[in-house]
Amino acid sequence: MTISGKTRVVALIGHPVAHSLSPGMHNAAFERMGLDYCYVAFDVPPALLRDAVAGVRALELEGLNVTVPHKEAVMPFLDTIDSEAAFIGAVNTVVKQGAKLVGHNTDGRGFMRSLGEKGIEPAGKKVLVVGAGGAARAISYYLCVEAASLALFDLDRPKAERLAADLKDVRGVEVPVPERLEESLPGADMVINATPLGLHPGEDPLPFSPREGQVVGDLIYVETPLQREAARLGCEVFNGRGMLLWQGVLASALWTGREPPHDVMLRALREGLR
Ligand code: NAP
Repeated sequence: MTISGKTRVVALIGHPVAHSLSPGMHNAAFERMGLDYCYVAFDVPPALLRDAVAGVRALELEGLNVTVPHKEAVMPFLDTIDSEAAFIGAVNTVVKQGAKLVGHNTDGRGFMRSLGEKGIEPAGKKVLVVGAGGAARAISYYLCVEAASLALFDLDRPKAERLAADLKDVRGVEVPVPERLEESLPGADMVINATPLGLHPGEDPLPFSPREGQVVGDLIYVETPLQREAARLGCEVFNGRGMLLWQGVLASALWTGREPPHDVMLRALREGLR
């Protein structure tokens, strides 16, 4: 990669960002595609978010990835939000289209592409999503129409009920919200952890106890006690690495108009995780 006066810049904004695997993944793809683009990460404290977005305009960046804690807060500073990002209530990708900054969210589609790649089919399955935050909103947008049925559980029940009501409004699908996890867990064919439980393996309890025969998904992209327990029971298990990869593939396609080489991006992701 040679940086020149013509190199186009895409940036990640978050706080912190030093740990991010995205620069490696995206730069590897740009290089393989022979595109004069580079991807950098900027640590933006919340108080400076508005200035950072103004900087995107002033410096004519091609676009952004947006991560914690700015995914929701960035929305008022953009010109347009696509319908999926509006439903999710969070933006993870910004594209500069002419003078306008357009917000997208590629997490849900990325998740579905990752399932497709693994040959995991939600069709015909009773799916339970545990957690009703941003990640759950992104995947539920698709699962509620693709799966035989979807149920949502969150310790904060009103939050899960709000998501269910939004799914009914926007997708026209009725999504039950059990009062207790045990009401939906035993009958589910696929159970997905969309809570942060597992990020602190020594301290966190399991988000749920998987059952034999279930497909168990975890949106966390490193190995967790839940994934180990599900594997021990012989369950089919997937983690969030595929979602991370494919949300990036879709974001890259939005910035460049070209489908990036996902195998190259996966290799970069694996190297970053090592
Ligand atoms: P979030 O907004 O904090 O939402 C998590 C939700 O889970 C919250 O509503 C939380 O409730 C709830 N919760 C916590 N403990 C629970 C429990 N024991 N049972 C039921 N619900 C519980 O987080 P997020 O942004 O949606 O992210 C969720 C996970 O997905 C994180 O681990 C994140 O790393 C992962 N993720 C992965 C990708 C990827 O590309 N692989 C992308 C996005 C997110 P309270 O608010 O009451 O605590």
